[in-house]
Amino acid sequence: PEVAAKIAAGEVVERPASVVKELIENSIDAGASQIRVDLIRGGLQLIRVSDNGCGIPAEELPLALARHATSKVSTVEDLESIRSLGFRGEALASIAAVAEVALISRPRGALHSAQISACNGQISAVSPAASPEGTIVTVRNLFSAVPARLKFLKSRQTEVSHCLHLLQQYALAYPEIRFTVTSEGREVFATPGDGQLATVLVQMYGPAVARQMVPLSGQSADDPERPVISGYVSRPACYKSTRQYLSFFVNRRWVHSRLLIAAVEEAYRTLLLSGRHPLAVINIQVDPSQIDVNVHPAKTEIRFLRERRVYAELMRAVRRAVLEEAEV
Ligand code: ADP
Ligand code: MG
Repeated sequence: PEVAAKIAAGEVVERPASVVKELIENSIDAGASQIRVDLIRGGLQLIRVSDNGCGIPAEELPLALARHATSKVSTVEDLESIRSLGFRGEALASIAAVAEVALISRPRGALHSAQISACNGQISAVSPAASPEGTIVTVRNLFSAVPARLKFLKSRQTEVSHCLHLLQQYALAYPEIRFTVTSEGREVFATPGDGQLATVLVQMYGPAVARQMVPLSGQSADDPERPVISGYVSRPACYKSTRQYLSFFVNRRWVHSRLLIAAVEEAYRTLLLSGRHPLAVINIQVDPSQIDVNVHPAKTEIRFLRERRVYAELMRAVRRAVLEEAEV
């Protein structure tokens, strides 16, 4: 069973950044307005995510670590309309199979906090603790009992940059959340949580680049099946040599999508701006019934029910933004 648990964990936990992703998604699902992430040795020695979200009642702490236990989806119908980022209930259990995990939590309004920990798949009893409202999850010595996985990881610096890239994406997707990120005890970035995507853009890409970004004009959702597109794209004069600066969020979930990349790049191509990679931060809101997020455990891939429509709408929105800019 222990081997099976470790293999299953590999599906969800590929590297430190996958742990960071699962933990901050839990914080976001918990309604946190502040999330702090601390990394040591690229997350291999320590990943700590602290939030001021709803917390976990002491009696539910063992469930949080149990496989296939989720507080977010209870019926099959719910799966059709997923609004939370998590829904499988396997992230914490998978992480606990390949690392030491400690959970400390104090539900909002509760007088006390409680803790639980798991080491080598052994789950401790719940005991009293002291902490502010919210949840602190600490993951230590990731993969130290899975040498085969450790060997596949690149340098510590590579793992740090994967973590930071991921955290940047979430900071862009959630401008209303105050993110603080440290690595080796030093602050790497902090966002103000003022709700303005433009502010986060300045933080992430610097003022010079941020000035080159133009907003996608908002559209009214007259037709409920129509995707609502917002965000920023770069002016033609501003481009990068990689696609790393193309960020897509669908219903506030960070996604990798060849379809969306192709739509943006095609828009620039039709404007005779090919061969370069624009920067873009694009939010797409669609009715949950129009997407399938249940494709892969890591959940960064999604399927659209109406791919061609999404493609066409996104291409048009990008073209319009860039063209309007050119005419001014
Ligand atoms: P999922 O997110 O798919 O439900 P997880 O294994 O990631 O599964 O988390 C299990 C459960 O633990 C969640 O359903 C939630 O009830 C609880 N939980 C985990 N992290 C937090 C957090 N930061 N704040 C509040 N509850 C949490
Ligand atoms: Mg989760």
